[in-house]
Amino acid sequence: MLDGKVALITGAGSGIGRATALRMAREKAKVGIADLEEGDTRKKIEEAGGEAIFVPCDVSKPEQVKAAVEKTVARFGGLDIVVANAGINGVWAPIDELEPADWDKTLSINLKGTYLTLHFAVPHLKKRGSGSIIVMSSVNGNRTFSNAGATAYSASKAGQVAIVKMLTLELGRHNIRVNAVCPGAIHTHIEDSTHKHDTDKIGLDLIFPKGSPAIKGGEGEPDDVADVCLFLASDLSRHVSGVEVYVDGGQSLMR
Ligand code: NAD
Repeated sequence: MLDGKVALITGAGSGIGRATALRMAREKAKVGIADLEEGDTRKKIEEAGGEAIFVPCDVSKPEQVKAAVEKTVARFGGLDIVVANAGINGVWAPIDELEPADWDKTLSINLKGTYLTLHFAVPHLKKRGSGSIIVMSSVNGNRTFSNAGATAYSASKAGQVAIVKMLTLELGRHNIRVNAVCPGAIHTHIEDSTHKHDTDKIGLDLIFPKGSPAIKGGEGEPDDVADVCLFLASDLSRHVSGVEVYVDGGQSLMR
């Protein structure tokens, strides 16, 4: 499905980004893995006969993102697909305890990181005359506002969808599609980047009726998200731009 295409995926060392990198490589995309740590992603792709490059990068640092994009383009000769996926949950706390440094960190990685990735990648997509941009947002900030203390995270995830919609119109004439993916609860390592304090003080303990009507109780795997990214990267979604795709088994309709 992606033969001859080059994909740059941020946060591809773990979780959703890793699964997306493996899935796209299986469809013959060449993959740039942009992350703080490469994990086993490149090794797995190469073992399966695919091609990948690890481009070490902190997405909140302009010069590092620029270098990651340039190294991927230099190695594979261009760029067709960008997945702005790197992100952290950061600090979840009552607003009067959410410190300016906590806010800055979450917004720098999740929102500014998305801007920087697209800022440096888009010129290369324009050169190709087509492209697909996928931004990894969340149910939080878009459909779900009941995760106590997730104010900075939700703001970053809502901001990402605004970026998607602005760029849909800006880049349409260049035949570049821009879409957001909004996962619900997916089993990854994201809890490692979650620091909750005093969220119980907010008093937002929603109690749901027994048994969830959502598919698989709303719990998903990284591959569930990777398959949606593959669809959005491929020609199957050639007339799809400017949408958010919820990947949560329907759970966020409840909250
Ligand atoms: P994860 O922690 O398993 O993977 C995140 C990856 O991003 C890691 O490899 C990490 O090293 C990388 N990363 C973190 N900070 C970075 C930085 N500054 N520069 C470069 N790379 C950095 O988590 P995940 O669940 O796979 O998260 C991926 C994306 O999915 C995030 O944007 C997250 O907000 C979004 N998301 C996840 C869930 C979920 O339930 N897991 C739900 C909704 C949205």
